[in-house]
Amino acid sequence: MKTLLQMPAVRECAAVACSFNSGGCHAPAVTVAAADGAASCATFVESSVRGGIAEITGSVGACARTDCVHNSNLACTAPSVEIGPGATASDCLTYRAA
Ligand code: SF4
Repeated sequence: MKTLLQMPAVRECAAVACSFNSGGCHAPAVTVAAADGAASCATFVESSVRGGIAEITGSVGACARTDCVHNSNLACTAPSVEIGPGATASDCLTYRAA
């Protein structure tokens, strides 16, 4: 069985209210959703529990925005992504319509 060593890093995330954000994203794998026309991080969560793994930088595990130039079979092929405010508090700002 193979495992992925390299997924696109979340190089910057401005959604500081998210429990996975501590000077950046620390979620092992975020999912970008396609709800309501936005490319938003569906892993965003506000909780009193600190989320993620402190030693790692977050990465994109899956992306439902099949209309993005970086999307291939629901996976992201961009070198890295930036998350920040847009239609939601946590949009994928690297999204580009094909
Ligand atoms: S850059 Fe495109 S394919 Fe990659 S996570 Fe953002 S919306 Fe999805």
